[in-house]
Amino acid sequence: MTARILVVDDIPANVKLLEVRLLAEYFEVLTATNGPDAIEICENGKIDVVLLDVMMPDMDGFEVCRRLKSDPATAHIPVVMITALDQVSDRVRGLQAGADDFLTKPVNDLQLMTRVKSLVRLKMLTDELRLRASTTRNIGIEELLSRSLASEDAKPRVLLIDEDERPAARIRALLADAAELDISGDPHSGFFQAAENPYECVLISTSFKDFDPLRLCSQLRSLDRTRFLPIILLAEEGEDSRIIRALELGVNDYLIRPVDQQELTARLRTQIRRKRYNDQLRTSLTQTIEMAVTDGLTGLHNRRYLDSHLQTLFDRAVARRRPLSVMITDLDRFKSINDTYGHDGGDDVLREFASRLRKNVRGIDLACRYGGEEFVVIMPDTDGAVAEKVAERIRAEIAALPFPVGKDGKTIEVTISVGVSSLRKGPDSVRDLMKRADLALYEAKRGGRNRVVANAA
Ligand code: GH3
Ligand code: MG
Ligand code: MG
Repeated sequence: MTARILVVDDIPANVKLLEVRLLAEYFEVLTATNGPDAIEICENGKIDVVLLDVMMPDMDGFEVCRRLKSDPATAHIPVVMITALDQVSDRVRGLQAGADDFLTKPVNDLQLMTRVKSLVRLKMLTDELRLRASTTRNIGIEELLSRSLASEDAKPRVLLIDEDERPAARIRALLADAAELDISGDPHSGFFQAAENPYECVLISTSFKDFDPLRLCSQLRSLDRTRFLPIILLAEEGEDSRIIRALELGVNDYLIRPVDQQELTARLRTQIRRKRYNDQLRTSLTQTIEMAVTDGLTGLHNRRYLDSHLQTLFDRAVARRRPLSVMITDLDRFKSINDTYGHDGGDDVLREFASRLRKNVRGIDLACRYGGEEFVVIMPDTDGAVAEKVAERIRAEIAALPFPVGKDGKTIEVTISVGVSSLRKGPDSVRDLMKRADLALYEAKRGGRNRVVANAA
């Protein structure tokens, strides 16, 4: 992971100390020794995380943070406040100023890297969302995003897995305002509880009498449903090597007991935001892809999808020496249906036809609306004789069962003509394959409609 970190401290030796450690992890480091310089660097450079000292003359860290968070150009940059040890009041003031996280001096290496990495990941997601929002304005992504931002304040559902009742009760008290907390006292049932409920974060204690908490972490990471579920470890002082192992396993963050309330809420908030952004990105991406390749009227794939996918199916069939067939169907005298029942009546027929088509093909077949009242089905692993039988079955079913049109229960008879073609033994191409099916369809129309013609390749 590479990112640009800005280190701000009025004492050059402190700056140097953090800079050296960050450079060792291959981060790019910029430095500033006062608030105004820091703000200017954030406005100009692409900064991913700011490490900000609280105690600085003239403009202190709180003020710098407040200004960064109130300017739309810099508000999205995560800020980590570096406070003196045990200054709880500083943490509260930092949160009020909009800080995303804290570190206490002297800065512990493991904490520094975990926090920076966790915030860099969050920043990358927000950058991605901001980019999407600006490039996909016209397909409703912006609306999706604003909905997600509105839900940012919703209380997250969190699961705590800890067999010790007293510390668990303490966490419950600390999170009373910040989360809907469930507690599981047993690691085995806790695992199932995590898998079966829509939690947004799991807190896992490291102190079980005879159970390895890392086992639970790795199980959660390997299960599909919980792969992206944020995990925060609640560890004891001196458990560094266990924490490092946990982070390697994909645990997102950790806290040392006794857990500080501000730290707990800040860490939890970062993980929840990241999860929500992630979920949002996945759904909006899936929806964008679906919208782009689906026909709005029938829900079948559209021509664009067919064009991009047919070549792949074709190449695969050729490479594996497997058969492949294509069927083009066209509704007969469809214009007259439109003329008699209106465009809406015509649409009813198209939808009904699509649904019958879908029921009559296998899952691996690719059914598309090719245009107007023409539909194409690509059938992998299917030779010409079988494809012709499938086409004939569909044709017969369409002709046998009248189609409902409009709302008053009227029905009309509909027929289709079908052209079938199959992959040739000799040299062949997608274009030729489609052309042969098209020619067969033309033959079917010319032969009187309501029939199937297979192209003898
Ligand atoms: P043929 O048996 O030779 O195929 O006759 P046809 O009337 O079906 O053929 P033609 O291609 O002349 O007409 C197709 C009609 O389909 C023309 C067009 O208005 C109509 N059409 C195309 N897309 C849609 C649609 O999305 N909805 C509706 N209702 N009609 C459509
Ligand atoms: Mg037609
Ligand atoms: Mg037509």
